[in-house]
Amino acid sequence: MGPPGAGKGTQAKKLTARFGWRHLSSGDILRAEKAAGTALGKNLAEYMDTGKLVPDDIVVDVMAAALGANNASGLLLDGFPRTVEQAAALDAQLAKAGKALDAVGVMGADEAMIVRRISGRRSCPQCGKVYHVETLRPRKEGVCDDCGAKLVQRDDDREEVVRRRLEAYRRQTEPVIAYYRARPGLKVIDVDGGGTPDAVLKTLAAELAALGVGSR
Ligand code: AMP
Repeated sequence: MGPPGAGKGTQAKKLTARFGWRHLSSGDILRAEKAAGTALGKNLAEYMDTGKLVPDDIVVDVMAAALGANNASGLLLDGFPRTVEQAAALDAQLAKAGKALDAVGVMGADEAMIVRRISGRRSCPQCGKVYHVETLRPRKEGVCDDCGAKLVQRDDDREEVVRRRLEAYRRQTEPVIAYYRARPGLKVIDVDGGGTPDAVLKTLAAELAALGVGSR
């Protein structure tokens, strides 16, 4: 968990590659739905392009289907749950399956850094690899190193939308972190998202390994 631009997606990709888990990103799943142009996808654009959260009933259904189809040995949720209602729905689904969360990672980040990071972010529409115009440039400008596709800026990475997303985070998602902190026995791992990606990964991986989660 963490505000937009804290580096959740980057860490999720690194951790799942290291531990052999499956990465389930609600943002990626919703973007794929939107790109497919289905009736649901068209409905999503009005929220996603303006930095608002998609309504809980839609997200819970979409994520329940993705979770239900999962048979990996470990699962890393990225961007979900983002409201207390979603967290309660996730708890109910996990309980039904006889499962529970092992840990919650919380990445902190300050607002000025977030706006700088996100407005320079570019991504590959084909493979999802993420770049930055200043700090993580592709070998050839504007082109993905791995698949040669033309890099794009997400509609919701424009500055005014980023500010709206931060507001949604503070109002709707921070209470979810409090909800998890209050749960006895659930490990909440706090990391500074302002560190380098490798430093953040080292902290997260070490804490997860100490819990025995990484070796399952
Ligand atoms: P992300 O890539 O995680 O920043 O998500 C991009 C956008 O998708 C968000 O700004 C929301 O509009 C929507 N979204 C992603 N995950 C959720 C969620 N769990 N609940 C509501 N909306 C979401």
